[in-house]
Amino acid sequence: MNAELALDPDWIAMVQRYLVTIEPQRMMHYFTDVLIIGGGLAGLRAAHEIDPKLQTIVITKDRLEESNSSYAQGGIASVWDPEDRFDNHVQDTLTAGGSLCDPTVVSMVVQEAPERVAELMKWGTRFDASNGELVLGREGGHSHQRIIHALGDATGKEVMRAMMSHTRGLSNVQIWEATFTIDLLTHAGRCCGAVVSKQGSPPMLIWAKETILSTGGCGQVFRESTNPRVATGDGHAIAFRAGAKMRDMEFMQFHPTVLYIAGSSRTLITEAVRGDGAYLIDSTGYRFMSDYDSRLELAPRDVVSQSIVRQMEKTQSPCVYLMLKHLEPNYVRKRFPGIDAVCRSFGLDLTKDSIPVRPGAHYMVGGAAVDLQGRTSISGLWAAGEVTSSGLHGANRLASNSLLEGLVYGAAVGRGASASALQSQISTTVLPISSKINAHVPESIDITDIRNSVRSVMWRNVGVQRRADRLEDALQTTQHLASFVLAQSFDTVEGWELQNLLTVSLMMSTFALARNESRGVHLRVDFPDLDEANWCKHLTTTRK
Ligand SMILES: Cc1cc2nc3c(=O)[nH]c(=O)nc-3n(C[C@H](O)[C@H](O)[C@H](O)COP(=O)(O)OP(=O)(O)OC[C@H]3O[C@@H](n4cnc5c(N)ncnc54)[C@H](O)[C@@H]3O)c2cc1C
Repeated sequence: MNAELALDPDWIAMVQRYLVTIEPQRMMHYFTDVLIIGGGLAGLRAAHEIDPKLQTIVITKDRLEESNSSYAQGGIASVWDPEDRFDNHVQDTLTAGGSLCDPTVVSMVVQEAPERVAELMKWGTRFDASNGELVLGREGGHSHQRIIHALGDATGKEVMRAMMSHTRGLSNVQIWEATFTIDLLTHAGRCCGAVVSKQGSPPMLIWAKETILSTGGCGQVFRESTNPRVATGDGHAIAFRAGAKMRDMEFMQFHPTVLYIAGSSRTLITEAVRGDGAYLIDSTGYRFMSDYDSRLELAPRDVVSQSIVRQMEKTQSPCVYLMLKHLEPNYVRKRFPGIDAVCRSFGLDLTKDSIPVRPGAHYMVGGAAVDLQGRTSISGLWAAGEVTSSGLHGANRLASNSLLEGLVYGAAVGRGASASALQSQISTTVLPISSKINAHVPESIDITDIRNSVRSVMWRNVGVQRRADRLEDALQTTQHLASFVLAQSFDTVEGWELQNLLTVSLMMSTFALARNESRGVHLRVDFPDLDEANWCKHLTTTRK
């Protein structure tokens, strides 16, 4: 069930339809059949489904290598072990999702998983294997060994290496790197391409018969995050401005174990470490998870994150610790070479020392609502991957289900967009779209400073533990910042990213304030219980 959320007219009035002035007669144009915005796993998987007769462009804001997909560590969930069953994977996903998963979607994704994994191997991905059999890992919330991984703890790197190499061989697909999508173009309720800035050039218009949005997540909204710098929620903001239905924007998953060393990048310590037997201890050396959940360190992520935050409060410490010294050292080093290297660079020995960790924003569950084929509410606009709300994750994502979602929905939107573009009678042409943004010169705006403020406010007030007064505070602060930042006419990626971060923050805080219960990754300390009677529903919103 969906409930439409009425947004505050004051902040909605600040969100302009387009971030830049659009005057087609003064701009460069490019025409294509299919436009794919985002070159992570979902976007590249989509590209493989496009009919070779159709001209396709994949655009990425940075280098193709920079995406959440490339940083994925743990792996891809798929029923592979003869002892495992689709029903088990379905049930584990539903259990993690807190009654909000769509069972049809879950069943479809789980059943397609082995086929999607097999094609990755066909396209050159080398998953970790022993004696010719895939090695299967286990992560929190999974009842069986079913996590397929590569390079030990660098699955995304290997999968993306193979996908990028395979995509570069597709003769109908061009890849435009360092091309920032500013907004989707819409005319008469249909999406017809995007306005982009290619390598810092003035905005140009790409006109497309079908457009696929696969821009990934928005972890950068928070000060503490596992996501790379590119994950600023551009796609969430772009879709919202274009009028797409947005759903479940309150559900941000926090990863429980992010390396916490002053001065280090916030490196994720994969769940597989706990799957292989690592303990969580607090600053006094006490193994505390039994105080919170009988599944101990293998409880779902939301439970572990919330338990860590409570234990940090109890012990008045800024972090807790992962401990692996009871595990076989050679195995640990071989299984987790990436984490071992990062720890060594900070003088820590993964096999002997306690590793300081705390939660960080990791995976955005909410996004543009899509149907089983990946259609959004805007005709001509498809979406796949972390930018969407497909119904797979409900209120909480089960570990290693998101690369899988990107593969399954990437294939679906590629198929759908390809079939529509082949049948399309629409010739790609310049349409009468125009927008005029008042050219305020942002002379006194310190973009970096405001970006840091937004991320700090969101971390403090819309983080792992939420309550009404804090959420209201976040809304007030972001609304104040938005009142002058969203009115500006920027001409840099940093400026547009800041506008997108603020737009996503406003949406997230509004949704989180509305949901007066605790469910999945959304913990309201002032409403600590699950409220099935009133809240077993999705919140949605659409900018009119
Ligand atoms: C550290 C880490 C570890 C993870 N480990 C796992 C794991 O083990 N298993 C698992 O299932 N999931 C994991 N995840 C989550 C998973 O990696 C992501 O959910 C998934 O890769 C998202 O894929 P995507 O294709 O939707 O987006 P991404 O891979 O993030 O790709 C987004 C693309 O969109 C482009 N883009 C964004 N904005 C714009 C713009 N304005 N203009 C143009 N291009 C734009 C980017 O350049 C990029 O090419 C992990 C995530 C992180 C951060």
